[in-house]
Amino acid sequence: MPLTPVLTSRFAEPRSWTIETYERTEGYSAWRTALGMTPDELVTLVKDSGLRGRGGAGFPTGMKWSFIPQPKPGETPTGPAAKPKYLVVNADEGEPGTCKDVPLMMADPHSLVEGVAIASYAIRCSYAVVYVRGEAVHAHRRLQAAVAEAYAAGHLGRDVHGSGVDLDVVVHAGAGAYICGEETALLDSLEGRRGQPRLKPPFPAVAGLYGAPTVVNNVETLASVPFVVRGGSAWFKEFGPEKSPGPKIYSISGRVVHPGQYEAPMGTTMRELLEMAGGVRPGHELKFWTPGGSSTPYFTAEHLDVPLDFDSVAAAGSMLGTTALMVFDETDSIVEATLRFTEFYAHESCGKCTPCREGTYWLVQILERLVAGHGSARDLDLLTDTCDNILGRSFCALGDGATSCIASSLKYFKDDYVALLPPDEQGRLGRTLKLEP
Ligand code: NAD
Ligand code: SF4
Repeated sequence: MPLTPVLTSRFAEPRSWTIETYERTEGYSAWRTALGMTPDELVTLVKDSGLRGRGGAGFPTGMKWSFIPQPKPGETPTGPAAKPKYLVVNADEGEPGTCKDVPLMMADPHSLVEGVAIASYAIRCSYAVVYVRGEAVHAHRRLQAAVAEAYAAGHLGRDVHGSGVDLDVVVHAGAGAYICGEETALLDSLEGRRGQPRLKPPFPAVAGLYGAPTVVNNVETLASVPFVVRGGSAWFKEFGPEKSPGPKIYSISGRVVHPGQYEAPMGTTMRELLEMAGGVRPGHELKFWTPGGSSTPYFTAEHLDVPLDFDSVAAAGSMLGTTALMVFDETDSIVEATLRFTEFYAHESCGKCTPCREGTYWLVQILERLVAGHGSARDLDLLTDTCDNILGRSFCALGDGATSCIASSLKYFKDDYVALLPPDEQGRLGRTLKLEP
């Protein structure tokens, strides 16, 4: 297996964010190589590499690019194929515990700009937008500076490097709503509307920005693309498992000795990553952790050896999500942590659909009662019932994600909930409707 770091290989370079450093370390060589290929060859290369979306869902990147309707040779294009194509970068990193895209944009913004250029060419688009999370003002400024440097060096603009390719890149700041990380809400926000999810299908690949075919890709996904072009698909596939290959940035936070970003191949286990982060703080034991942010079901010490790739984590009952590994030890109350996450979802719910808008509100009320020691045995059933009424009935992934921490905490640590009940309520447990989540 080739060695990491790859994505973070420039992080320790002096003034790593400048075009001088980037070009000195082979930067923009992949863009020149790509311009010598056909767009279809690039799509095939990325498909063959096995690169999957790093925003959380793990959708195959090359396949997503290939969904963009293109005019057929010799035919007058009609429908979506006749419309302009857009590339939109989802840089609205907002999943609790996730801190990989902002550090990447701060330390190595040109790898994203180069990835944007290659992806735009591959899908035959000449206008790309980077939608940066509103609170990340520093990342927004850094990207703007990188884009200006790339224009000045002739990597963007008209007739790039004499290839006949035109490409404009615009950096846009969001206003700080978590839901705008959902790709269709992001598109609505870009169009100047209130950011709320759209019905899918049609997927953005067919009807996205201004109703035109649009690829929406995450920052880390696109920053991986120049490495795929430089190293080739076979080299990229050597990192980690065949179906989820590639280098990956894991954000580790919470009760570890050295929290931070750690790059390792896909499929690295939490046990190995914990070792890189210096382990759980001395004198304490791991209690529970999230494999991919607060929207993914909790894992426990029994999951330390699950390879952290999309398929293995799903097979073990959770989701890889954004590889935001939040670590909790025995001093942490899982019910309080779950309440905190649920408050976040209730606050960030966009209000479009009833199960999520009302359900997350009621989940907070129940959890608050339990944490305050005023809960009843029936509240445990109510929690499960409310989750059941949100899961699969919500308009977008936010509603489903909000139930993950509750359902999994009840699955692994039901006793912690029971311990919070007043003694007379503990005696009523057997007589409640149901207790299994
Ligand atoms: P999804 O599975 O619905 O879609 C994933 C991507 O594939 C989308 O771009 C979608 O357009 C595309 N796609 C899927 N099926 C398609 C088809 N048939 N044709 C064309 N395109 C298709 O997932 P999602 O709702 O976009 O994202 C959910 C994930 O987002 C969760 O797993 C969560 O981990 C993650 N998330 C990330 C953050 C963050 O800060 N990065 C925040 C919240 C959630
Ligand atoms: Fe909005 Fe929540 Fe419904 Fe998503 S699930 S559309 S965030 S109310």
